[in-house]
Amino acid sequence: MKKKIPLVYRVWFAFGFIIATFFALSFIITLIGSLLNTTMTVEFVKSHFIFSRFGVVGGYLIHIFGNIFFAAMAIFFALLSWKGFSSQINPPELLTVSHVTCKKCEKVHRLYYKTFQDPNTDKHCEERGFMPMPRDNKIICDCGAEIDLSDVRD
Ligand SMILES: [Zn+2]
Repeated sequence: MKKKIPLVYRVWFAFGFIIATFFALSFIITLIGSLLNTTMTVEFVKSHFIFSRFGVVGGYLIHIFGNIFFAAMAIFFALLSWKGFSSQINPPELLTVSHVTCKKCEKVHRLYYKTFQDPNTDKHCEERGFMPMPRDNKIICDCGAEIDLSDVRD
């Protein structure tokens, strides 16, 4: 069972990702530019109505750390949006187990079903006596009876 989240959320996540990436890049570019061209940045700090209040060094440091902070924030939001966007594409990891009783001999068959690939999980389940759900939804019991698992899969 794949849970679908409305398309509108995907669009918003994609939009959020683009905006956040744009801000992240502009903060990073400003940061690199400020570090490379100190003279220009000092002039900017001196003329800026807020930065100039903290003196040249203070204003410069606030400007640099402010850019680092906002770049980090923007990267964080970009990753968050990307996670939201891509979670729509990949189905959630799911592992379920079920017990099926043979109608003929009443032997209990233990089965597991999962939506992801992981050999360790397979090993873990098989060690505990669970069999993977067969693709054709059928198992043959020791007594010879065929058990249909279509209902179990649902
Ligand atoms: Zn049986």
